[in-house]
Amino acid sequence: MSGNPAVLMRLVASAHSVAEKAGSIVRKVLHSGELGIVEKTGANDLQTLADRMAQQSICASLSRRFPKITIIGEEDLPAEEIKDDLIENGHLEEILQKTCPAEYSGLKEEEIVVWVDPLDGTKEYTEGLLDNVTVLIGIAYGGRAIAGIINQPFYNYQLGAGAHLGRTMWGILGLGAFGFQLQEVQGDRRIVTTTRSHSNKLVTDCVDAMEPHEVIRVGGAGNKIIQLVEGKASAYVFASPGCKKWDTCAPEAILHAVGGKLTDMHGNAYCYNADIKHMNSAGVLATLRNHEYYVSRVPQSVLQALKSD
Ligand code: AMP
Ligand code: MG
Ligand code: MG
Repeated sequence: MSGNPAVLMRLVASAHSVAEKAGSIVRKVLHSGELGIVEKTGANDLQTLADRMAQQSICASLSRRFPKITIIGEEDLPAEEIKDDLIENGHLEEILQKTCPAEYSGLKEEEIVVWVDPLDGTKEYTEGLLDNVTVLIGIAYGGRAIAGIINQPFYNYQLGAGAHLGRTMWGILGLGAFGFQLQEVQGDRRIVTTTRSHSNKLVTDCVDAMEPHEVIRVGGAGNKIIQLVEGKASAYVFASPGCKKWDTCAPEAILHAVGGKLTDMHGNAYCYNADIKHMNSAGVLATLRNHEYYVSRVPQSVLQALKSD
């Protein structure tokens, strides 16, 4: 590539390294054994030292390099000086070598919003379900999720000592998604993936209405989108408020980059502008294929209970 790379490509290349640094922080805190768990709204809404340190690392690293970008992180943290060893200055050169899709090549920093979930699947992290955990950095422009980075810090952990731990997936609309092998569920099986720790009657009624051949209950929004793009699940169904914009921005961008779809339970898109409310009040419905089928199966009771914004 000639000339100066587009801001979007520089941002994604940096965010790739920043997400890997955050993933290494998440591993380090676990190995230290001192999780520093705090309840936010209750026992199913936790924050650990890893959530706090990973967010500090991500936000400080990106804002030093891209000072005019709006960055919104999940955790409410006091403003304080960030230690130098939390700052990541690297980038993935391979991303800079790719051509930015024409519609995003002229983006300015001030037009970009970054949504950060420093540790998605905190509840599962504290319970040792380590492959449910991801670090999510979503990039939005004009209200749409246009690029995303997902780091899975404990990928391969079941293989034991010697295996290379962790991986990073990334994608940009109009360019594609990388760091994994795109796969569809075999045959016409409807495998529904849903929450394991935030369920309620609406959630289970809606899952049943999909007439699934199989239901998988796992933690994390990022983790469930990985299941969709790797052929482990056909639909992510969560008919409840609870997920926030930082849970869905990066996963949505990667899913959309490979032709999938993430919407609320009505089939309407979420908006990722900086001033939007954080809660995805009308639930999350995501698929790699056949989105319309799943939208058509959502019960009236769910549609009435969960209004689109
Ligand atoms: P889950 O599928 O339950 O792991 O949820 C995916 C994401 O949404 C995680 O970041 C959860 O913390 C968040 N989430 C979902 N439901 C709730 C809830 N009722 N309260 C707090 N966070 C929630
Ligand atoms: Mg989350
Ligand atoms: Mg989180």
